[in-house]
Amino acid sequence: MSSIKEYFSSVGKGIKSLVQGMEVTGKELVTPKITECYPENRDTLQISDRFRAELTLKYDAEGRHKCIACGICQMNCPNGTIKLETKMMDLPDGKKKKKLVNYIYNLGSCTFCMLCVTTCPQNAIEFSNDFEQAVFTRDKLIKKLNYRPEPADPAPAPAPAEKAPAPAAKAPEANNNETKENK
Ligand code: SF4
Ligand code: SF4
Repeated sequence: MSSIKEYFSSVGKGIKSLVQGMEVTGKELVTPKITECYPENRDTLQISDRFRAELTLKYDAEGRHKCIACGICQMNCPNGTIKLETKMMDLPDGKKKKKLVNYIYNLGSCTFCMLCVTTCPQNAIEFSNDFEQAVFTRDKLIKKLNYRPEPADPAPAPAPAEKAPAPAAKAPEANNNETKENK
């Protein structure tokens, strides 16, 4: 008798579970679809602005970037993804200033932690959401971020003019008189 009870109890549980499952399926049937049909919808695809695809330098309308080559992003990057090449530049006022030569970023080793972006004192870098970064060789993931032509460096301060040679010192007159007297 107890086995018949158990049998009907398990059948009841099975039917309850089936109804619950069908309930979830029914809900999903009427929920708006969010599946992206990529790449067919490439032209209309919306990627969130927060998506971190690759590091980029910010440029203004004149094509200038704000990086002052301080190296803070390079120091803060936990896995050596950023390599800066810099040079010292002479300014018109005679002072010297560090200038960015190459900003090299290795997308292949970036962990997208954002430490570089959040610690940059100039707000000069950001992450783009351009997600199509697939390449066939890893070396193509190493990118130069300051790729735009930059305005010419200001002319350095003119070199100081050379001093005219000092006139030869005159022989003391007393000596001259002595010489005349001796003659
Ligand atoms: S990107 Fe920012 S932190 Fe990095 S070198 Fe340039 S100014 Fe400094
Ligand atoms: S996001 Fe993180 S890992 Fe990537 S370059 Fe910046 S600091 Fe380095």
